[in-house]
Amino acid sequence: MPLAWCPRLSLRAARLFLAPRRDLAISGPDEPLPVVRIPRTLQRRQEERQSGRRNSTRLVLVRPGRLLISARRPEFNQPARLTLACWESAPLASRGWKNRRSRWDHFSIERSQRETPALRNLSEGSFADLGLVPRVLCALQEVAPEVVRPTTVQSSTIPPLLRGRHILCAAETGSGKTLSYLLPLLQQLLGRPSPDPRSVPAPRGLVLVPSRELAEQVRTVAEPLGNSLGLQVRELGGGRGMSRIRLQLLKQPPADVLVATPGALWKALKRQLMSLEQLSFLVLDEVDTLLDESFLELVDYILEKSHIAERPDELKDPFNPKAQLVLVGATFPKGVSQLLSKVAISESLTTITSSKLHCVMPHVKQTFMRLKGAEKVAELIQILKQHDRADRTCSSGTILVFCNSSSTVNWLGYILDDHKIQHLRLQGQMPASMRTGIFQSFQKGYRDILLCTDIASRGLDSIHVDLVVNYDFPLTLQDYIHRAGRVGRVGSELPGTVISFVTHPWDVSLVQKIELAARRKRSLPGLGSSVREPFPPADVNVVP
Ligand code: ADP
Ligand code: MG
Repeated sequence: MPLAWCPRLSLRAARLFLAPRRDLAISGPDEPLPVVRIPRTLQRRQEERQSGRRNSTRLVLVRPGRLLISARRPEFNQPARLTLACWESAPLASRGWKNRRSRWDHFSIERSQRETPALRNLSEGSFADLGLVPRVLCALQEVAPEVVRPTTVQSSTIPPLLRGRHILCAAETGSGKTLSYLLPLLQQLLGRPSPDPRSVPAPRGLVLVPSRELAEQVRTVAEPLGNSLGLQVRELGGGRGMSRIRLQLLKQPPADVLVATPGALWKALKRQLMSLEQLSFLVLDEVDTLLDESFLELVDYILEKSHIAERPDELKDPFNPKAQLVLVGATFPKGVSQLLSKVAISESLTTITSSKLHCVMPHVKQTFMRLKGAEKVAELIQILKQHDRADRTCSSGTILVFCNSSSTVNWLGYILDDHKIQHLRLQGQMPASMRTGIFQSFQKGYRDILLCTDIASRGLDSIHVDLVVNYDFPLTLQDYIHRAGRVGRVGSELPGTVISFVTHPWDVSLVQKIELAARRKRSLPGLGSSVREPFPPADVNVVP
C-alpha cells in the first residue's frame, strides 16, 4: 500500500517495515526513500549484458564416457554408469515441455546394450531339456532351423504348460512368446484323438488374437509346424461376411488348431457353424487388448462356450475334453482377475513375468522431439528422405509410422503421395478386401514405409523394421510399449530406433514418466504386474 494513503503510519514505522529490504538502504531518519524506477532483476540483467558476462558461453561439465540420456541441453545428459535412486530428484530434460517455448527441444534415451534382453542370459539348455518330444523338436528344426536355443521366456513357459498348468505370461515384446505357447499346444494335441469329422467343426486348439493381421501371422508360424506333425491349422479372420466364414469352416479337413479373431469366431458360434466342446488348449494372445472394452463382450461369450478345466487332472480325460487356459501379453493385462473369476479356475494360475516387463527397452535408441503440431509433417518428410538416402548408401531397414486415428493415416498418406514417397497404409476402417495382405507385403519388404494406427502395434513381427516414428504420440504407456516393441526383436537384422513427436501437454506427461523410468532404470509406473483379488493368490515366477 503506498505510504501517502496511510496518514497514521509514521515514517519511522515505514522504515521498520522496509528494514529487511536491504536494497532500499534506508540509512538515516531524514533521508528520503529511494525511488525504484527499474526493477532490480532487469537492472541486474542489463548490467550483466553490458559487462558481457551473459553473452559468454556457459561452461557445462560433461564427463567423458557413454551416455544413458543425451539431451540438446547438455546439462541434462546422464552418463550410462549413473543410475538415479528412486528418492533422488531427477533433472528431467522434458521438465519445461508443457511450455510452448520449449519447441524444438529434444533428448534421447541411448542404446545401452546390443541384443534384446530375451536373448541375454540364455540358459545353456536346449528345447529338448524343456520336455518337448522328439517329433516336435524335429518339426521345429525342419521349419525354423534358426531357432536353436530357447529364449528366456520360452524356457520359463514351456515346462509348466506341458505339465498342464493354466498360465499367464507377461513378457516384453519380441521375446518369442508365440513359440512358447504353440510348441506345447501342438505337443498336447499329438497324444489326443481327433473328433469325428462328420460332426460340426470343433477345433482342439484355439488361439484368439485381436487382429486379422496377427491371426495371419500366427497361422503362418503354426501351419508349417502343424503340417509337419500331421495337424491341420486354419485361420478365421473377420471382415469377410458370413458366407465367407461358412465357406472357410466347411473346408475339408476340419481344423485341429484354429487361429481366430473374436468377431469372426463369435459369429460362427452364434450361427452354430462351430463348437468349442472339443477344446483342450485355449490361448488368448495379446490378452491386454482382448480384455479391452471393445472385445470384452465377445471374449466373455467365447469363454462361456469353452469348457476350461477347473483342475489339472480334468485335462487327462479324452472323452470329456477340458481346456487349458493360456494368457499371453507384452503388458500386464488389466481386468484379468475378473476374467478368471468368470471361468472358475479353482487351481492357481501360474504367472510368469519377465524382469524387464514394462521397462524402457535398453537395446533401442528412443528419441523424443518437442514440436508444434504444424511442424510434424515437415519433420517426418525430412526423416523419411534422410532414411531413404541412408538406404542407398548402406542398406537400412523399413519404417513404421504410427498415427492415433485412421483419418490421420489417410491424410498423411495423401501428403506422402504429393512428395512421391511410396508407402503402404493400414488402418481399422479400411474394407477387409483392401486390408488383406498389407502387413505381409510390408513384412516381405515390397514397400519400405507403412503408415498405420495401433492395429499394427500389437504382436506383429517384422525383423526388417529399424525405425518406428510416433507421428502422434500414443495415448497410453501401454501403447508406447507395444509400438516401440516393433523394433529390436529377437532375430532383428538391424538395431532399432524410435522417434516420437511430442506436441500436447498430455503427451508431455507421458514422456516425463518414460524419461524418469529410463533415468532410474525402473519399470514404467501404473501398469500393474500381479493378479488382484478376487482371484486366489498366484504363483509368481520371476524370470531372471
Ligand atoms: P512376441 O510374441 O514375444 O512379441 P514373437 O513370438 O513374435 O515375439 O517372436 C519374435 C521373433 O523372434 C520372431 O521372428 C521369431 O521367429 C523369433 N524367435 C522366437 N524364438 C526364437 C528363438 N528361440 N531363437 C531365435 N529366434 C526366435
Ligand atoms: Mg506375440
